[in-house]
Order: sequence, then structure tokens, then C-alpha cells
Amino acid sequence: MSVPRYTGVRTFASLPHTSELEGVDVAVVGVPFDTATSYRPGARFGPEAIRAGSTLLRPYHPALHLDVFGSLKIVDYGDVVVTPGNAERTAGQIADGLAPVLAAGAVPLVLGGDHSVVLGELRAHAAAAGEPVGVVLLDAHADTWDEYYGEKYFHGTPFRRAVEEGVIAPERSLFAGMRGPLYAGSDLEEAREMGFELVQGDELRSIGPGDYSDRVRRRLGDGPAFLSFDIDVIDPAFAPGTGTPEVAGLLPHEALVLLRSLAGIDFRGYDVVEVSPAYDGPGQTTGMLAANVAYELLALSAVARG
Ligand code: MN
Ligand code: MN
Repeated sequence: MSVPRYTGVRTFASLPHTSELEGVDVAVVGVPFDTATSYRPGARFGPEAIRAGSTLLRPYHPALHLDVFGSLKIVDYGDVVVTPGNAERTAGQIADGLAPVLAAGAVPLVLGGDHSVVLGELRAHAAAAGEPVGVVLLDAHADTWDEYYGEKYFHGTPFRRAVEEGVIAPERSLFAGMRGPLYAGSDLEEAREMGFELVQGDELRSIGPGDYSDRVRRRLGDGPAFLSFDIDVIDPAFAPGTGTPEVAGLLPHEALVLLRSLAGIDFRGYDVVEVSPAYDGPGQTTGMLAANVAYELLALSAVARG
């Protein structure tokens, strides 16, 4: 309360910017990569927009009754090195960049970046855990397509690559929020054949947070868990600043309540991806919403580890 929150060098929620990991519980990490997008680019500026949108976050979470920043040591680790135009090489750079964070026992909260970045994250997590990781995905898309224009490393393909590489456990993963027109019915059927459980957007809204939470917990079991939040799961009226918008998405409060329903799960890592600020509306609503999603993820770690 001694200085206005909008002053100073911009880090996530004014957290200290450091690469020192001693005693750190959660490290916020930017991954400014966006050249694996199929439609609107610009998510390379997502980390910057989410940090800017985090300015007004306050420490106390009134719904979960805890001091998020007081109960954990959280830092802004800065951005990992990426290679614009080369998603395959960047996946390796992301895995290398996150390895020291995981080796220090910290939970990385990645700010994307387009969704191709999750492949590098899952490589890092599977290596650290010594086994494939169960993924809780909230996304308008399943991102299990095989290729785009001959490109295998793309923002619509990371979970298929992760299955092929053995870094994701589809039988322990639950993907929710899928909606909008498809190329064919097989788009989602193939994801199910790979072993994923899918809860499409309409069903997600009808089952509500209680059943959603039960299904996620049953699915994850006791193994390592990771949560990936693609901002396009939210309706583009509220989150227009994204690469591949689909109409009729979740409302912001629905998404926040779904995240809170997962309290108690000790996730090994998170991401918030596909924020493309050049398409954001007046007032930067997408960046602000993404920052609040990130805050809910920090709160999940505060519940699990605080
Ligand atoms: Mn996605
Ligand atoms: Mn998506």
C-alpha cells in the first residue's frame, strides 16, 4: 500500500524478477512464441499483456480464503529463449528452460505463447516426473490434429505429438470446452481413440463445476498432473484477443469457478496460452482475464502447498 500498484518495472503482479530458485514455490515464466499459429498471430506478446493485466491483482483470495502471495514464495522468472519461426527447436528450448525450475522443486506457471509451447512443457514435466503426465485441458479445441500444411509442430497438434513422444498420459487426461465447427466428426473421435476423455463445451456447461471436478479427480488419480488453459475456451466477447476464436464459449465467471473446483489437486505446472493482445478489445479485457486465470492457478498451488 506504500506505492501505487501501476508503478515500477512490470512483472507478474509486481513479483520480484529473479532467476534465483532457492525456496521458490511457483515461478511465473513467459514463453513469447507464436509462429505455430494457423490464423491470428501475436501471442508472442501474450506474456507482456498478461503481466500488464496483472497490475491490480491483490494477495487475498476471498473465495478460497487464503493469501495467495503470502502463503507461497512466487517469483517472475522472466522469459525462456525461443526461436521465432521454428516450433520444433523452440519446444526443445522450452524443455531446457523449464528443467532448472523443476529441478529446484518449483511449479512453473507458463504465460504463452501459442499452444505449441505445451509440448516443450510436457517434455520437461515428464522428464522431471520420470513418467508421462496427466493433463487437464480447458480449450475450445482438442489440439490433437496431426499436421497443418505439412507442419507437424503446430498449435493445433501438440497433444498428438505428446502422445507420440510418451510425455502425456491420455488415460489420465481430461480435455474440456471443445466447441465450434470441425473439419470432420473424426477430429474429436481421434482424440478419444488416442485415449483422452473429452467433455465438450455444451456438456461442460450442463454438468457444472461439481461433476467436472469429480471427473477430473477420478481421471487424474495419484500421478503427476498438469493444467493447460487456452484462453479461447472463454467466449470471444470477453476474450477477443486470441488466435483462433470460437463463438459461444464459457463466460469468465464459469471458467474461474471451474478452476476453483480443482482446489486440492497438487499440479506440477500450468500454462495460460493463446493470448494475442493485438486483437484485444478496449481496456485489454483478454490480458486482464488471463492474468486473473493465472491468479486462480497460483491459488490452486497455495491450497495444495501453502
Ligand atoms: Mn489450444
Ligand atoms: Mn484453442
